[in-house]
Amino acid sequence: MRKKLVAGNWKMHGSLAENKVLLEALVLELGQASTAGCIVCAPFPYLAQVQSVLSGSTLAWGAQNVSNHAKGAYTGEVSASMLLDFGCSYVIVGHSERRALYGEDDASVAAKFAAAQAAGLIPFLCVGETLEEREAGVTEAVIGRQLDAVLAVSGIEGIGRAVVAYEPVWAIGTGKTASPQQAQAVHAFIRAKLAVLDKNVAASLVIQYGGSVKAANAAELFAQPDIDGGLIGGASLVADEFIAICRAAQ
Ligand code: PEP
Repeated sequence: MRKKLVAGNWKMHGSLAENKVLLEALVLELGQASTAGCIVCAPFPYLAQVQSVLSGSTLAWGAQNVSNHAKGAYTGEVSASMLLDFGCSYVIVGHSERRALYGEDDASVAAKFAAAQAAGLIPFLCVGETLEEREAGVTEAVIGRQLDAVLAVSGIEGIGRAVVAYEPVWAIGTGKTASPQQAQAVHAFIRAKLAVLDKNVAASLVIQYGGSVKAANAAELFAQPDIDGGLIGGASLVADEFIAICRAAQ
């Protein structure tokens, strides 16, 4: 039985004052035992604040990016061990905004994934197709390629210690959610592809859906057999929405 995980990706949003209100609401409503796994991925400068407010609750936290290097002359980069210093358990790698806007290719995503795991972080590996790729009928080929790049470096054993997030690029921040059936079909493809390498890993892997998830559509998405929670962007900034989405995963 897989535990559902809901992670909020704040992207480049927030302030000390706004975060305080949001985090305190999450602790009040979700920070007790027995909730589904609920995680907040905040911008780097706010990780100390997130750690201070969420410590002692059942909520976990993480970052949205990580260097593929352990340390060194890499101005502006943040290493996995630095994230551990602030209590992070998770880090997002390969988000489509990083792939599209910051030139992260499959190889650099695979390197970041490996660096995160080497330090003891759990990566959320984001995969997903663009609208053009979906319309061209190459969704499975694209996601297969994105997974293969990570498999080549970290193996199926590495995937087994991660979370995969299926995030169709056309559904991120657009208000267009994949239908539960569309999402389920891709989740089943991912699980079947990995099952060829290791049935147990595939069966126990948490595969989240991301793309315009909100309180109104979360329950139907999470009811699909291969959808194990969600990676939530915009709605994770609104306390009531995020709390309702986390509850829908229980
Ligand atoms: C995301 O940023 O990963 C995401 C899914 O965003 P949104 O929920 O806003 O579509």
